[in-house]
Amino acid sequence: MDKIKTVILNEGRDKSLHRQHPWVFSKAIKEASDDIKMGESVKLVDVNNNFLAYGLYSPKSQIRVRALSFDENVLVDENLIASRVKDAISLRQRVFERGNDGVRLISSEGDLLPGLIVDKYNEYLVISISSCGMERFKDTIVNTLHEVYPDCSIYERSDTKSRLKEGLKERKGVVLGKEPEDTLYVKEEGQVFVPVDIKNGHKTGAYLDQRLSRIKAGSLAKGASVLNCFSYTGGFGLWALKGGAKSIENVDVSEHALQAAKTGVAFNHLDPGRCKFLKKDVFAYLREQVEKGVKYDLVILDPPKFAESAANLKKACRGYQDINRLGLMLVKKGGHLLTFSCSGLVDPALFQKIVADAALDAKVSGRVVGTLRQDEDHIVSLPCPETFYLKGLDIIVM
Ligand code: SAH
Repeated sequence: MDKIKTVILNEGRDKSLHRQHPWVFSKAIKEASDDIKMGESVKLVDVNNNFLAYGLYSPKSQIRVRALSFDENVLVDENLIASRVKDAISLRQRVFERGNDGVRLISSEGDLLPGLIVDKYNEYLVISISSCGMERFKDTIVNTLHEVYPDCSIYERSDTKSRLKEGLKERKGVVLGKEPEDTLYVKEEGQVFVPVDIKNGHKTGAYLDQRLSRIKAGSLAKGASVLNCFSYTGGFGLWALKGGAKSIENVDVSEHALQAAKTGVAFNHLDPGRCKFLKKDVFAYLREQVEKGVKYDLVILDPPKFAESAANLKKACRGYQDINRLGLMLVKKGGHLLTFSCSGLVDPALFQKIVADAALDAKVSGRVVGTLRQDEDHIVSLPCPETFYLKGLDIIVM
């Protein structure tokens, strides 16, 4: 085996590694030899040559090294990756036991496997690799998954833009076993079947992270008129219908997602007469409804990630404030707004401030009766708070 290459950090830039935060940015690096290969395992040391961590090298990315081991005796090799994959799966037992057939098995940094997402939908495993370090271990990852789930097919959805920053090409397709059907239905909490399109849906096919909040929406929906903004394949709407909603409007720009949402209503034997599927821009639709003076019992705002980078954080905050102002104006007195942000850069305190400002703009008084978050299979890394990305508020309008 080649001798492990060393990466030396600048003076004072070793603090985050001492706290076991896994990201080493290019600016933190004092010296690294030119011949380190894409994804190669390296040893990180401080200016005095003290060991800090072992990590995987991404020569093209701003995040130049992702640390995986902080123990000098534990190298980043096939054995470590395989054992981390198995550890991650063992942590999901509770979520399976709750009656979920769609589960996030591996949650990147949350499972000490930065750059790797694996979701299980019925008998399909979907892998998504976003760093060149994990790319090097693809065979180990696939073999370990196959060992744990010999009857499952494996499909790859490594078609995220973030791969380009790593110098990797986008890739998707069958890795092992059979090709998934166009739409499958995945049991959520033993109660509702949510439509999933593994091959062409967003991310790996579905937004499993919102499971807890969909259940919440169901619990608030009895007799309610519901506006489900950014509905995707209608998960919140299905739970609301199951919970006894009087009417539900699902709004999304994606025709493909809305078509899947329609099939979900039929698959769950719910009443299509109570549902509308509107292919519209949410910002425009909210304005339209405010102008008409329409009010709902329950409004859900689950937008895509507005803050992609620190550079567009301000603009993103304005976007959140705008939809929340309009959303709050559409809630009846005594009704609920469930509002979310999945931008890691917008922390819970900032999000609450944005929504508070939106309420002032809307001249609405609200009370926070609940806080919401990504479900537990989307594990949060203790030293890497950025992995707590999805937060929400349950607000009653007074
Ligand atoms: N609530 C969903 C997930 C929402 S993901 C669930 O529980 O599964 C965000 C969705 O917003 C995507 O489906 C995307 O198509 C949609 N979207 C993005 N921008 C939009 C806009 N301006 N207007 C309407 N929909 C939009």
